[in-house]
Amino acid sequence: MKTMSAVRYRGPGEAFVLSAVAIPEPGPGQVRIRVAACGMCHTELHLRDGLLDLGRRDFTIGHEVAGVIDAVGEDVDATRIGERVVVYYYEGCMHCAYCAAGDEHLCPQVAAQPGFISDGGYAEYMVVRARNCVTVPDHVSLTDIAPMGCAGTTAVHAGKLADITPGDWVVVHGAGGVGLAVLQYARHLGGRVIAIGLGAERLALAMSLGAEATIDAAAIADPAAEVMRVTGEGADVVFELVGKESTMRTSVAMLRRRGRLVLIGYSTDEFRVHPIGIIVREAHVIGSVGATLTDLHEIVDLVAKGVVRPLIDRTLPLTAFAEGFSAMEAQSILGRIVLVP
Ligand SMILES: [Zn+2]
Ligand SMILES: [Zn+2]
Repeated sequence: MKTMSAVRYRGPGEAFVLSAVAIPEPGPGQVRIRVAACGMCHTELHLRDGLLDLGRRDFTIGHEVAGVIDAVGEDVDATRIGERVVVYYYEGCMHCAYCAAGDEHLCPQVAAQPGFISDGGYAEYMVVRARNCVTVPDHVSLTDIAPMGCAGTTAVHAGKLADITPGDWVVVHGAGGVGLAVLQYARHLGGRVIAIGLGAERLALAMSLGAEATIDAAAIADPAAEVMRVTGEGADVVFELVGKESTMRTSVAMLRRRGRLVLIGYSTDEFRVHPIGIIVREAHVIGSVGATLTDLHEIVDLVAKGVVRPLIDRTLPLTAFAEGFSAMEAQSILGRIVLVP
């Protein structure tokens, strides 16, 4: 049996471990990818810490995967061998009403979800359904596109749910990897963006990506008042990427009437606000999780055209995954860390 290195999830509260596992063979309808790059995501910390527990154990993590198809299973066109691809990480049942509508990310009986319930891309190879592989144009690097499979698609999906129209004031509350993608997508839709984050370097980056104003969360005591000052009446849309009780409360306070609060990031904190802040504004609170295959096609296209710029903090070898998680926990990164197996 040929083996490869893979970073394995064992269960909530347990550290990830690098193990030798069998190199997988593609089954019917599947391809095998030689992984070129896999983005590191905060969701993996939530898995490790037990905040996110989808009930499965003992699988390889990693859902922001790009690579080259190196083998195909039955019923898959062999000419796809050699194709550069990025992975859509939901494999819906394809029978339910959600899948029929293209919302595989909401499928209650998802067949596989690489990196969340089945083997993902913190490995040299992974197997995935062929239709989940989206072609990457030659001029786009696999390292750049890998994290867009999650951070970029999340931005596109949440942006659509928020129903942004040109001229809308959009607050991006949290300027990490996903936040910077949300910022760029909101600009693409014509939104006027205010970014809230920590640190001058990160906020300067937000300005360079098209934010009209930034708020340093460490320096400004009342970010909601600052948003009111800049916008006049408040934000049409607030994307909440931090998920702390205090930031969620502040996010509600900076909405204008009929504003939309889109919850994306979360922590161990609860969403605790007095309802009057939502009632008197007729505000909408929207949850956004993952994305559709269509969203992945859209973000690949936007990256290929230079509309959305992937932001890569650094690349690391697979063996240095723990160093990557430490840097993420220290909040010392700008954009995504990408593992290169
Ligand atoms: Zn992710
Ligand atoms: Zn389904």
